[in-house]
Amino acid sequence: MLLPPSDWNGLRDEVVGHLTRLIQIDTTNPPGNEMALARYLDRVLHTAGIETQLFEPAADRAALVARLRAAHPVSPPVLLLAHMDVVGVAREAWTTDPFGGDVIDGYVYGRGAIDDKGMLAVNLMTLVALQRRLSAGQLRLTRDVVLVATSDEEAGGTIGTEWLIENQPALVSAEFALNEGGRIRVANGKPLYAAIQCAEKVSNVVTVRATGPGGHASVPLPGNPVAHLARAISLISEHREPVVLLPTTREFFAGLSMVWPNAAERAAMTDLVSGDAARQAQGARTLSGTPLFDATLRTGISPTILEAGVRHNVIPTEACAMLSVRTLPGESIDDVVDRLAGLVGDPAVHFEISHRGHDAPPSPSTSAAFAALRDSLHEIDPSIAAVPYLSTGATESAFLRRWGVPTYGILPFPLTMDDESRMHGHDERVPVEALGFALRLVGGFVARLAVHAG
Ligand SMILES: [Zn+2]
Repeated sequence: MLLPPSDWNGLRDEVVGHLTRLIQIDTTNPPGNEMALARYLDRVLHTAGIETQLFEPAADRAALVARLRAAHPVSPPVLLLAHMDVVGVAREAWTTDPFGGDVIDGYVYGRGAIDDKGMLAVNLMTLVALQRRLSAGQLRLTRDVVLVATSDEEAGGTIGTEWLIENQPALVSAEFALNEGGRIRVANGKPLYAAIQCAEKVSNVVTVRATGPGGHASVPLPGNPVAHLARAISLISEHREPVVLLPTTREFFAGLSMVWPNAAERAAMTDLVSGDAARQAQGARTLSGTPLFDATLRTGISPTILEAGVRHNVIPTEACAMLSVRTLPGESIDDVVDRLAGLVGDPAVHFEISHRGHDAPPSPSTSAAFAALRDSLHEIDPSIAAVPYLSTGATESAFLRRWGVPTYGILPFPLTMDDESRMHGHDERVPVEALGFALRLVGGFVARLAVHAG
């Protein structure tokens, strides 16, 4: 294995030290300014004797690639990915300094503690710990282990993973990658399941536009575009796209049904994956009552922006709405829009796809990388159910998957729902104990894939 168990606590404390420093380097995006943080990583890696390459894809933005080389590689590399930027803070809502990285009552506090500087610190320490043992002649690598730190993930920018794939493909070419995206959920005081993200929904934007004659509001008009748009949105809001049980979702619910605490939902999960059409429909109906489950079962449509009118006494000539449409992988956004146009059936209302997301093939749950993650989890705690997961949100993993690199998403920290909901919120924090867990998980993953056994 990667390390003797006696080393874990010392390494975990080193992770905490690095995480505090990473939080203190403010990479709020915009503007990001990730270069300062990349230089810190570069220094730590370089001092440890690890080869690095630092790029500046835009002014003060950075992409860092560090590589532990196998002397005689027998397989293509494995990538450990994390982004360096963080979302902004509402400082007055925090009880601690969001850029202090303080350790209080067993938690590291600060913006990015969970998303994604915690994982970045764990990836960093994994490489450093491996390098120490390599240089001491205590282990051999069977493939290169590559750390990648990117910019602009939170703004959905094009100077992160996508930039590296386009501009430095040889550096990020790999057989497998590990990224953020999944979850390890703590319920009743212990980790219940690990949702390993193997696929993700695709984020599209559709504009709905109603047009009409306009005029003075003292003369009501049947063609008022505000009324036409309101009717259209009302119909769309009541509409449900069909349930599609993708292989990833089937495995997700089958695995979850083994450990799920709520008996009614557990039975619904068993029904859903039973293969019997009537039971499947019944199971889907029950699970659809929980918004997050519903979102994994079908394409989801959320109206998010409404725009119409400038004066209370003028009927406008146009009214607009925006829909966030999250299609299931493999589903066509054009087909969804055709269905919506048919449903609304109003010649005054037009649909336009303003943004098309990036579809990507799911990463298989039968791969060596998935097994490495599952076995590492079970080494720490055999009772944790490891399930493949279709995430409802979009991540940078889609770029790698489309490029042909199976990518697995996990936030490697066991978190309660309360702690997880602080991500992008106030008083974001990660338990010190969870950092130790993450180090063992990522270390075990790399050891299984890249360290010569024996
Ligand atoms: Zn993130």
